[in-house]
Amino acid sequence: MARYTGPVCKLCRREGMKLFLKGQRCYTDKCGIEKRNYPPGEHGRRRIKETEYLIQLREKQKAKRVYGVLEKQFRNYYKLASHQTGITGENLLRILETRLDNVVYRAGLAASRAQARQLVLHGYYKINDSKANVPSMRVSEGDKISVAPKGKDVPIFQSVASDHLNVEIPEWLSVDQKRLAVTVAHLPRRDEIDLSIEERLIVELYSK
Ligand code: SF4
Repeated sequence: MARYTGPVCKLCRREGMKLFLKGQRCYTDKCGIEKRNYPPGEHGRRRIKETEYLIQLREKQKAKRVYGVLEKQFRNYYKLASHQTGITGENLLRILETRLDNVVYRAGLAASRAQARQLVLHGYYKINDSKANVPSMRVSEGDKISVAPKGKDVPIFQSVASDHLNVEIPEWLSVDQKRLAVTVAHLPRRDEIDLSIEERLIVELYSK
């Protein structure tokens, strides 16, 4: 399971927008974008001619980086989305949103997708009371994701159970904060996915 392990704030600076890859730090003035809102590198501030290809490429890179997916897996998701009925771009986002690591992040059971991924790998979650330790596992309508018994004493889950959740829970998820459980009420529609990406451009890029 390959993943990007370099500095993540550089990814936001490259895309020129906050991708929220670092949990709480993203909401403080320590955020890399707040301090240096220009692309990283020696030639970061040089003007670059915006071609159609570049605009499409940047949208694809944003989506990959937000969800922590590398090229091969992202392209496989695109192929899967293009074989489903409906709008390919929306199908693609729905596939990405229903990854287990994204669902626990959206439900407030992890501070970032990267942390969610790590907690999933360490076996802190269950889907329908069965072991679920693969971040890319996809959830379906009606699935119940809960914190495994060994996680009840972990500080992050204790604070979720006792505090008010400071994340906005999307309508397609129903969270039982006291029981540390989340149910997939329905699969997300595009208007329920909080992501400022033009998925149409990703489809255009891949369908060339
Ligand atoms: Fe991006 Fe968060 Fe780093 Fe800000 S703090 S640049 S939003 S990863």
